[in-house]
Amino acid sequence: MKSSVRVRFAPSPSGHLHVGGARTALFNYLFAKQRGGSFVLRVEDTDLARSTRESEEAVLEDLRWLGLHWDEGPDAAGDFGPYRQSERLSLYREHADGLLATGKAFLCYCSDEELAAKRKAARAEGRIPQYDGTCRHLDDRGRREREDRGLRPVVRLLAPTRDVEVTDLVRGPVMFRKEMLGDFILMRSDGRPTYNFAVVVDDALMKITHVIRAEEHLPNTMRQAIIYGVLGFEPPSFAHVSLIVDKDRSKLSKRRGATSVAEFREQGYLPGGLVNYLALLGWAPQAGEELMSRDQLIERFDLDRVSASAAAFDEDKLDWVNGHHIREEPLGALLAVARPFVEAAGMLGIDDRRLEAAVGLVRDGVARLADLPRALAFLDDGARVIEDEARSLLEDETGASVVRALLAAVENGGTEIEAGSFKALLSDVGKRLDVKGKALFMPVRAALTGTTHGPALGEIAALLGRDRVRRRLADALAA
Ligand code: GLU
Repeated sequence: MKSSVRVRFAPSPSGHLHVGGARTALFNYLFAKQRGGSFVLRVEDTDLARSTRESEEAVLEDLRWLGLHWDEGPDAAGDFGPYRQSERLSLYREHADGLLATGKAFLCYCSDEELAAKRKAARAEGRIPQYDGTCRHLDDRGRREREDRGLRPVVRLLAPTRDVEVTDLVRGPVMFRKEMLGDFILMRSDGRPTYNFAVVVDDALMKITHVIRAEEHLPNTMRQAIIYGVLGFEPPSFAHVSLIVDKDRSKLSKRRGATSVAEFREQGYLPGGLVNYLALLGWAPQAGEELMSRDQLIERFDLDRVSASAAAFDEDKLDWVNGHHIREEPLGALLAVARPFVEAAGMLGIDDRRLEAAVGLVRDGVARLADLPRALAFLDDGARVIEDEARSLLEDETGASVVRALLAAVENGGTEIEAGSFKALLSDVGKRLDVKGKALFMPVRAALTGTTHGPALGEIAALLGRDRVRRRLADALAA
């Protein structure tokens, strides 16, 4: 049985899902899961000029990839639908009509030009521009006369004459002064609701108990609190989560690097890694741990520990967190997500068994899947690069003699190479030539991989297989 806690993520489908939105969705998801409540997805697509179905699909896809599955939404049954605002227009109309009927709202026919001129005049006189009440007390005749001129009205709410206080779960009490507000618009002349009106009607009808969203919406909360009051609905609890900023505290910008979930996915962050990192932007668990699985995040998440100050996006830390998740991921699952990265780098034809073993071997040093092709380049004859340092090791007399002796030993040895048998061959060569340590290993590593660092030699040889080992040792001698 679900608890009565109901939260929502309400994206406007006019672009990609960015880290800020993803973090908002995540906090809602974690809160819902922790409280055994419901996570609702509502698409706020009343801005027809900017909303597209493509963008909606992309946002939903990113949320699914992050694993932030919703209980109710445009594609999932629920008792409180429809879950797209463009399909709820009659509900907004109905509630606006109710307010008109009780005199809490009124029709306003002032044109944009008139209003703009009045705003300009107010500013020139040093007043805060506010609706001046022209249509507040229009009678039937006044309205008819305007309708006859072809004017289409907006619906305005009669502004309250008192201050509004809202207690925010992150920020504490926030006071809004009545002077900040004139009679504001609920419904536009084309029948679409304003953002504030639609959000309140929806949150109320969808029985949302906690509104967890970005700090930028805090100023809207005043209007929303007033709308709850006039509609006679119980307001939810509010929690406004702080901005995510750049390391230098400026606005997070594309110049710095990736900002959208899709970009992070393309760079090879794992959903678990990104989710773990995003959770730490503005929240920390009681005990201060930083590396957590999804279940641990759900268990520990708490709005009380969400910070009221801005959180700095730190890509190095994201890499560190993601590297941890790459190491923790079951190898089979990692293989599936790693393969496209390896193939995109042109490394084709590596069978599952070999790729899984290879990924297992190198994953300790990998922060993102996009780093895998470089770490695995030694596997592929074409992708492999011979570093200068490796070359000079092979030009050395002792180095060359080690490689020569090892080549002979491999040729005389069994048909397959395993990590253990290869190590035994090498140590044999070392004894015979009286070479040990780095002088023994490095030339072999250089010959096999073209580099001077990487995973254990025996494992590398086993992955390459006998033919390739022979060929590489022979090529190194010939070069
Ligand atoms: N649609 C709004 C946005 O994308 C969200 C509004 C809200 O959470 O109240 O910013």
